[in-house]
Amino acid sequence: MRKNIVAGNWKMNNDLEASKLLIKNLLNEFPSKLDNTKRIIVAPTFVNLIPIVEMTKNTAIEVAAQNMHFAQSGAFTGEISASMLKGIGVNIVILGHSERRSMFNETDEILVKKVESALQNKMEIIFCFGEMLEERKAGNHFKVVEDQIKKALFNLNESDWKQIILAYEPVWAIGTGETASPDQAQEMHAFIRKIIAKKYSQELSNDVSILYGGSMKASNAKELLSNPDVDGGLIGGAALNADEFSAIIKSI
Ligand code: PEP
Repeated sequence: MRKNIVAGNWKMNNDLEASKLLIKNLLNEFPSKLDNTKRIIVAPTFVNLIPIVEMTKNTAIEVAAQNMHFAQSGAFTGEISASMLKGIGVNIVILGHSERRSMFNETDEILVKKVESALQNKMEIIFCFGEMLEERKAGNHFKVVEDQIKKALFNLNESDWKQIILAYEPVWAIGTGETASPDQAQEMHAFIRKIIAKKYSQELSNDVSILYGGSMKASNAKELLSNPDVDGGLIGGAALNADEFSAIIKSI
């Protein structure tokens, strides 16, 4: 059964002190584990992963990395591998975020390798994808999203999909304050389920959690999350504020 998930991508924000304070405040709001239909995930920067993993052990909060390299080890200065993340207790990784695609030249080919490495290391993947404004304006958004999903994920076995969480993030809505309307989000999420059902099965398609990301905040979360195919949110800016993030979590 798919779960309702709220995941916070902290990006390159929050030093150690701020990271700990944010977690402390979130744990005050959510002192015990949630029922097993709901999940809370936070993705701090690499350097703050170890203390946050420690702080959140046996709590409702799970910890994800924001990225990883596809190789296990080697001469890749400044990079971090899946096995290193697993070694510190991080079992989830965000891959394919639009900022990585656009600013760090992360191609579909690189993402195929990263997905493979994460799966081999038994990590869960929050896989991000979404169209740019020009692509939506040109009416190509369904095709763009289908291509991104097909290229990176349609080579997977049905069983691999247990480790996949999808995050539809229209690029024009990320960090811009502009949000997809609830109808636009629902329309795309339903389309994603349709292509997964066609490629794999209706059952698998029903079981995949599909998050929406793009300027989701406390004030618009309820409406977006009330859609039948929107199972949660990947949150950037609003995840940096404990009250905002908690209010979004309470909307799932
Ligand atoms: C994101 O970066 O994944 C994101 C959704 O950011 P924001 O919520 O700030 O738009």
